[in-house]
Amino acid sequence: MARYIDPVCKRCRREGMKLFLKGARCYSPKCAIEKKLPAPGMHGARKGKLSEYGLRLREKQKLKFFYGLLERQFRRYFALASRSPENTGEQLLSLLERRLDNVVYRLGFAPSRRAARQIISHGHIEVNGKPCDIPSALLRPGDTIRSRIRERSVKFVRKSCDLAKEVPSDIPDFLEVIQGDVPEGRMTRLPSQADVDRNISEIQMQLIIEIATR
Ligand code: SF4
Repeated sequence: MARYIDPVCKRCRREGMKLFLKGARCYSPKCAIEKKLPAPGMHGARKGKLSEYGLRLREKQKLKFFYGLLERQFRRYFALASRSPENTGEQLLSLLERRLDNVVYRLGFAPSRRAARQIISHGHIEVNGKPCDIPSALLRPGDTIRSRIRERSVKFVRKSCDLAKEVPSDIPDFLEVIQGDVPEGRMTRLPSQADVDRNISEIQMQLIIEIATR
């Protein structure tokens, strides 16, 4: 499967906003956006005015980078969201919030979505008692997520939870942490608009819908 291997801070610099891809560093003065570094590339510092299309494309890219999606995954989520009678933008965000990597991050088991994806793909997480190594798995209300019950997984996830404590974030209402010997949580209901990560509020969903329906 394709994956992005360039330095991730370039993505934030390209979009001119924080996409919170690196955990605690994103909240520190070391962040490239805090340092006001220009967009990457020889002509990064002199960005011209964007066309109407360019404006919409950039909004879509921000959303994709924020949740760690590839274009094909984005299209799949958009197709699912647009089939719903509800507001397409809200449905799209609700689907993205239900991804396993997002849930692991928002439960405080990882300092970023990227770190959550790594924990999952390395086989340290189980959903409803069964190992799941698919970061894009969509969860349903009632699903439980926890570290696999084996020493190295529990150790790894606990260490990741400690790193996540350095990141200022709240556990949203659609998730609950279950207190116990191993890191464990549950999705209690479908995420609503109010549960969406507030760091994404700068992104204009209307522009994304316009480009995705072209
Ligand atoms: Fe890098 Fe995080 Fe800052 Fe983005 S927000 S530039 S990923 S440190």
